[in-house]
Amino acid sequence: MLAPPVAVPTEHLTPHDLVAYFRCPHEMELERARRHRDVHGSLGAVRTPSDVVPLRHSPLLPPPLGAVRVNQGRLAFAPSDRLVYEDDGEDDLPVLFAPEQVALDARFRTATENLVDLSLGFAGRPDLVIALAGQQLVPLEYKATHLFVGYHEAHGRLFDTVQAIAQCRLVEASFGRRPPYGIVLYGDAAGDGLHEGWVEVPYGDAEAGWLRYALAQVRGDPLRAPVPAERNCGGCEPNSEGLCRFAASRYEGPHHRAWAAGLRR
Ligand code: SF4
Repeated sequence: MLAPPVAVPTEHLTPHDLVAYFRCPHEMELERARRHRDVHGSLGAVRTPSDVVPLRHSPLLPPPLGAVRVNQGRLAFAPSDRLVYEDDGEDDLPVLFAPEQVALDARFRTATENLVDLSLGFAGRPDLVIALAGQQLVPLEYKATHLFVGYHEAHGRLFDTVQAIAQCRLVEASFGRRPPYGIVLYGDAAGDGLHEGWVEVPYGDAEAGWLRYALAQVRGDPLRAPVPAERNCGGCEPNSEGLCRFAASRYEGPHHRAWAAGLRR
């Protein structure tokens, strides 16, 4: 007699997992092993087999990019816009709203409160969620770096697009309303705001479909193979601890990937 089927729990994933996988699946595994250490005191297990063959590119296809809108200058919101969610765990976010424009949703007010999508096994925290004219919701991710020249050609910043799409889905699942787009705000903290800008990443059926594909790709990947390349390894945090035996270069700091992609101006 056959044993009853055992339900396999869906692997929990976050926007951060997706972004790391998009660069290098093995980096995602090592990042998760480090997070396990933060909680339990020892590195977590890594799925990547020891005889894995390194890849030249991540197996995750890029998201739709054709309708992304790039804007230069300072982002300003209308007086009728409201800040309804803020990640209290981030302490370097810009102040974009006057006190009377802050109307935080009581359901999501603690630093540990993730936005959760139970149907996709997906959870995370955008930096901000804004209600435009009190109606449409848009998530915002803040980057302290500058807006990049030639954004559409700058494949080094595609991971910001991945993050924006992921945050849109979390807002849709948590607030019950689909954002029309997500914002990535580039504050150019090092350049005193000289090259500020923001990118609007549309969130429609194509992007939602891509996200489902991406989650299935990550979960169905038994290898989580390394993608050793200077553009990846120079900014890879696990590499800063010498955790990766496939590393193509030494760790050069968190901003190395953008520099290596030739995007500095
Ligand atoms: S050092 Fe390079 S190959 Fe290794 S996990 Fe990091 S990005 Fe991937």
